[in-house]
Amino acid sequence: MISFSRIACIGLAAISGICGQLPAKAQEVPERTLFTNVSVYDGVKPELIKSANVLVEGKLIKLVSTDPIEPGNATIIDGGGRTLTPGLMDTHVHLQLVVAAPDLEFQPVQDVALQMVPIAEDMLMRGFTTVRDACGNTHGLRRQINAGTIPGPRIVSAGACIGGWSSHADFMTATSVKGQTNIERIGFSIIADGPDQIREAIRREMRQGASFIKLMVGGGLASAYDPLDTTTWSYEEIEAAVDEAKRWGTYATAHLYTDESINLMLDAGAVTLEHMHLASEATMRRIAEVAQENDSVFSAQVAVVKGLKGNPVFVTSSAKAKAAFLQDNGASVFELMREQGLRVSFGVDSYGSFEGFRYNSQAISERKGFFSNDQILEQVFQNNARLIEMTGERNPYKDAALGVIAEGAWADILLVEGDPTQDVSVFSDWENNIDLVMKDGVVYRSELD
Ligand SMILES: [Zn+2]
Repeated sequence: MISFSRIACIGLAAISGICGQLPAKAQEVPERTLFTNVSVYDGVKPELIKSANVLVEGKLIKLVSTDPIEPGNATIIDGGGRTLTPGLMDTHVHLQLVVAAPDLEFQPVQDVALQMVPIAEDMLMRGFTTVRDACGNTHGLRRQINAGTIPGPRIVSAGACIGGWSSHADFMTATSVKGQTNIERIGFSIIADGPDQIREAIRREMRQGASFIKLMVGGGLASAYDPLDTTTWSYEEIEAAVDEAKRWGTYATAHLYTDESINLMLDAGAVTLEHMHLASEATMRRIAEVAQENDSVFSAQVAVVKGLKGNPVFVTSSAKAKAAFLQDNGASVFELMREQGLRVSFGVDSYGSFEGFRYNSQAISERKGFFSNDQILEQVFQNNARLIEMTGERNPYKDAALGVIAEGAWADILLVEGDPTQDVSVFSDWENNIDLVMKDGVVYRSELD
């Protein structure tokens, strides 16, 4: 067991050096690190490479070998037989949702920004080295993490999500004035109606460094004015959004559940979507065809089946009713996904509190109720890496591969007790099993002696 103060100390040490025994300021990347005596799970093959060594040089993996590697001036880390894996990835987070969405309207901007910092740090300390943020202003957080001033995962940002009046982007009160709400001001969402406003909103987010665009197309749970059966934009509006994102070399994805919303997005040329829990068999077949044609991955969340009823983030009676409906009707979609062989990403959609975000560690083992161990590993590493790679030139981390232990890949590395190829749960019990976290060649947490 480790205490949180120890984690914070180590995390801060990575940037400030205040815990003197720990390695390196983030800006002073150790030139070479040699991991010896490890079994490698490389993020691709379902079996381990036993008795291996891994050399890191700067921010990248230089060599993976079962032969001894000449250490030269490298810092040697004896893995003690542990498994060396790529850093974890979660491709559906909302780091700015430090409280439940409707409450964000009442949070001062600085309070929100400061609360995001320990959440991002904790995410990294639990082994998540890359996240895709699917709505919310993470532009500043991403810039500061990448500059090495605060510890956190790599962030692939959508920026503010975009939706019309009365959509799942609309968390205003009944008397709010469009454009003058706190939620819009802090950059969580943008209310845009009509193709011109939608294109303008997308350009505003791309200007800030968004990697992809998140649209609020179907009715949602916590929002007040959008019943689950609704599609809150017309085809003309959806087409403008999908086209604008494409012209930026990336994609627009969408929050949605129903056949109608899904098919309008696919008609407009979308290559990936979020949730999709109320899709029929015919619609799932079409989704799988689009995935095949575009070598794309779709983002599905399993929390819907387990954690919606009674979840304290749903405060109003309408949100509670919608959550209950989705929990009762949204489970069979995973069977359809398995039948169609759809490539699914691991994206958890956790938010609301420091503890709420920690659910993404737990969610890895919860997927065992829906997918095989091999499929979950494929979702966390390969499929998540592909979903990020699909952002093309807008991918901030495109210079090297994510989610693999291979020559030339980013040195995002975990040392874990146990064998994830036998049981992915080793990642969920992170306090006992994840003994070292490296990102970009820098050790941010180590429990090794
Ligand atoms: Zn979400």
